[in-house]
Amino acid sequence: MYPFTYQRAAGLAQAVASLKADPQAKVLAGGMTLLPSMKHRLAAPSCLIDIARLPELHGIRLDGQSLIVGAANRHGEIATDATVLASLPALAALAGQIGDPQVRARGTLGGAIANNDPAADYPAAVLGCRAEIATDRRSIAADDYFQGMFTTALQADEIITAIRFERPRRAAYAKFAHAASGYAMTGVFVAQFDDSVRVAVTGAGPCVFRWEAAEAALARDFSTAAIQALTLPADGLNADQHAPAEYRAHLAQLMTVRAVAHITGHAA
Ligand SMILES: Cc1cc2nc3c(=O)[nH]c(=O)nc-3n(C[C@H](O)[C@H](O)[C@H](O)COP(=O)(O)OP(=O)(O)OC[C@H]3O[C@@H](n4cnc5c(N)ncnc54)[C@H](O)[C@@H]3O)c2cc1C
Repeated sequence: MYPFTYQRAAGLAQAVASLKADPQAKVLAGGMTLLPSMKHRLAAPSCLIDIARLPELHGIRLDGQSLIVGAANRHGEIATDATVLASLPALAALAGQIGDPQVRARGTLGGAIANNDPAADYPAAVLGCRAEIATDRRSIAADDYFQGMFTTALQADEIITAIRFERPRRAAYAKFAHAASGYAMTGVFVAQFDDSVRVAVTGAGPCVFRWEAAEAALARDFSTAAIQALTLPADGLNADQHAPAEYRAHLAQLMTVRAVAHITGHAA
């Protein structure tokens, strides 16, 4: 680890000002991704600005059809929160599958969305639920936010404050987890709204994406049979030591079938 300084932000405005003043500084939330990167010398921030305790970044509440979750809320809180369980249980189930108990006790929603690991779970729910990412200065639609591997629409000195999830009528997340880390080899979030269906795939490609052919098929016929007839092209999907692209394409179809089966209550 390279040397760095640490400051606990007194408020959101002060945290943003500190980021603006020092382009090499980084905000620290749960530290589950940032600290290992620093230990491996893959990241060398000059200063860590701790935002984990900022009250502006905490809180889970309903606002009409939306569920708003603070950026600093931890995975474990989201998995067990009564409001999330009642209003968007698929999100609670997703959060409960992240990593292990230690990761869920420290890692935050905002940190995961800011990091945008290609195998992270939340991006599928954020994109699937037509969410808005609220920051200290604007609101960004999920469709515009996820831009590529570890790349988002965030500016270097911008802090996520909350995620506004649009609540679907029904939703489910199905993931084929990496056996050691728990990260998604492929995970699929299916959300059925009154006017459309969303199918968001994480882990399979360099960045979360919508499987539009599956969305169209489910809009016509919300059943597992509608997906079993489809194949996701493997072109551009991730191929690495864990699995070739064709395997991930197969997993995307299988996880979509499982999510739909969960929603409809019919066997996959
Ligand atoms: C062993 C292990 C297993 C894991 N398994 C999974 C898994 O199965 N699924 C999964 O999805 N993830 C998994 N993770 C990642 C985990 O979910 C992390 O919590 C998450 O990626 C980062 O969140 P954090 O709060 O720890 O962020 P940090 O590590 O503190 O920060 C990560 C990055 O985001 C930035 N950042 C943090 N908060 C904000 C904010 N509010 N606004 C702007 N930028 C911000 C930081 O500056 C940094 O660049 C795993 C991690 C570990 C160590």
